[in-house]
Amino acid sequence: MSDLSRPNGPKIIAVANQKGGVGKTTTAINLAAALVEEGKRVLLVDLDPQGNASTGLGIELEDRVYTTYELLLEDIDLDEVIQDTDYQGLLIVPATVDLSSADIELISNEKRSFLLHDALRQTQMDRYELDYILIDCPPSLNLLTVNAMIASHSILVPLQSEFFALEGLSQLMMTIREVRQTGNKDLRIEGVVLTMYDKRNNLSQQVEQDARSNLGDLVFETMIPRNVRVSEAPSYAMPVLAYDPQSKGAEAYRDLAKELIKNNV
Ligand code: ADP
Ligand code: MG
Repeated sequence: MSDLSRPNGPKIIAVANQKGGVGKTTTAINLAAALVEEGKRVLLVDLDPQGNASTGLGIELEDRVYTTYELLLEDIDLDEVIQDTDYQGLLIVPATVDLSSADIELISNEKRSFLLHDALRQTQMDRYELDYILIDCPPSLNLLTVNAMIASHSILVPLQSEFFALEGLSQLMMTIREVRQTGNKDLRIEGVVLTMYDKRNNLSQQVEQDARSNLGDLVFETMIPRNVRVSEAPSYAMPVLAYDPQSKGAEAYRDLAKELIKNNV
């Protein structure tokens, strides 16, 4: 097995929050693209059966022959599942709806929680010379998300700046604690990033205050503004950094990448 303990191997970060629509996929795609702009080599693992990260990076359905499903459940060469994207330095393992049955198929598998962990630690992984692996998690705390948490060094939590935003966090933190006890004692929280932030909206400001007072340093200084260019980019199958490089959204994801890198030196 390859030794992925830092600093030699890639840093593996799961982008997770069991709430849907909070900006996980958007953050996974655009943070990955921003890290690439910083000269990093990044692999994005699409762990959501909806495959939104794959679509958002322009991987057509017919090009998703070997996917995260095969990565987890079949003994397959990494070269078959890891694909290039249009962005040099950004690689992807795409997903399709096939992955939705993995949860059930895995139940009888003794290693069911460690499949992604083991897949990402194959010796073959070394030749991609990755700096980061980002995992785009599904909107649930199911076995796929547990696989991501066991495989990862840290969790990055997008928090949508809206009412009830912090409500789901205690459940997420509980799952993280369980994972620390059962399979990954070193699992850290990379940070919580406020998404779809609207500085003119009192509610956004309230969520920010609550998050910073409850979670302190865990909250990234960088906040991702609500920005129409961010929401348009996926329909052009591009990160917003490529779709509109000067947009507020692109700038924010660049700042987030820089803050992440700074926190990891
Ligand atoms: P998740 O992966 O958590 O379900 P998504 O990343 O798919 O969430 O985001 C949910 C929706 O919100 C998508 O339509 C996305 O385009 C939109 N969205 C995400 N971030 C922003 C943003 N900063 N500004 C505007 N729209 C956003
Ligand atoms: Mg998503």
